[in-house]
Amino acid sequence: MRPIRPGDQGPAVIEIRAVLTGLDLLSKATGPYSDEFDAATERAVRAFQQSRGLSVDGRVGAETWRALDAARWRLGARTLYHAVPVPLTGEDVRSLQERLLEMGYDAGRADAIYGVRTSRAVAQFQREVGLAPDGTCGPHTMGALRRLGRKVVGGRPQWLRESDAIRQSGPTLVGRTVVIDPGHGGTDPGVVVPDGPLRWTEADLVHDLASRLEGRFAASGVRVQLTRGPAPETCLPDIDRAQLANSLGADVFISLHTDGHANPDAEGVATYHYGTDNGVTSATGERLAGLVQREIVARTGLRDCRTHAKAWDLLRLTRMPAVRIEVGYLTSPTDRARLIDPRFRDKLVEAIVAAVQRMYLPVERDVPTGSLDVSELRAAVAAGNVVD
Ligand SMILES: [Zn+2]
Repeated sequence: MRPIRPGDQGPAVIEIRAVLTGLDLLSKATGPYSDEFDAATERAVRAFQQSRGLSVDGRVGAETWRALDAARWRLGARTLYHAVPVPLTGEDVRSLQERLLEMGYDAGRADAIYGVRTSRAVAQFQREVGLAPDGTCGPHTMGALRRLGRKVVGGRPQWLRESDAIRQSGPTLVGRTVVIDPGHGGTDPGVVVPDGPLRWTEADLVHDLASRLEGRFAASGVRVQLTRGPAPETCLPDIDRAQLANSLGADVFISLHTDGHANPDAEGVATYHYGTDNGVTSATGERLAGLVQREIVARTGLRDCRTHAKAWDLLRLTRMPAVRIEVGYLTSPTDRARLIDPRFRDKLVEAIVAAVQRMYLPVERDVPTGSLDVSELRAAVAAGNVVD
């Protein structure tokens, strides 16, 4: 079929505009009432293609047409099941997957395809609410999802329990368990930069940072566990790192990395917490990542590359607030010069400890970024005078 493109008119354009309007990509005021493929339609088609991972050309060819067609389905309008060999696809499948993910079921990625993993997640949900676990999403399952869905608006139940537990556990750091994860190691050095006679590797730098952080936390009465030593034989996969933190019942998980880029001008610090493009997010992870980001930027002056949501295994599988920090670009001469200075690394470590402390402060007792004196925490512990 010839792609439908800007300038075209006719019933096909009306259909396209109707679907785009339903997806809120076109204004409800004008969307359905025109048969012209105008500039607004083109923008909406591009946005749609972008959101579906299609090539973005602003035209509706066969692939985009199929995706638009699948987008019509609203959750609840048909029974969903794992069909073989051609799986069901559609917007309703995506909504179902998002809902399952929000509730803590492992439906994989919200890719709008009803595959084995989605079917398994549905079966698990059915088992837990007392329905026959057949992996098929019909009216009964849909009803149960709706009832429960309302209760867990804003996050999966586990995360609600998580932020509740943090509020109730009080502000002290004493007795908490923090797992610190220096990235890479073993056969995987991470980012490597030959620097004259020296050779800086990400794996070595982040292990040094982790040890300093361990010392600081320990001085504040925190139990600390590192996921690896300075020179492990092999590189532990992220899944194992997450499982280690889970098995230790850690309160907080901190993964340390440096970034690298072919362009030496790329520089700065970024933090990552669990979340998906569809707005599913770990509320506590996001708060922790935000605090770490702000404290580091304020205390070190590294460029602010902001906080981002990612569905990486490390963040997805950890059951406690988890943050991955990319503390500067080893490939940037500016960042590198600072990172190899031990005093700078101490500043980084103070920023991270301050952020973790702030996560446990009730909102009304939170302090301005950069103001918390980490050495006071230590003095208070030394005096047997737990900060509360
Ligand atoms: Zn790394």
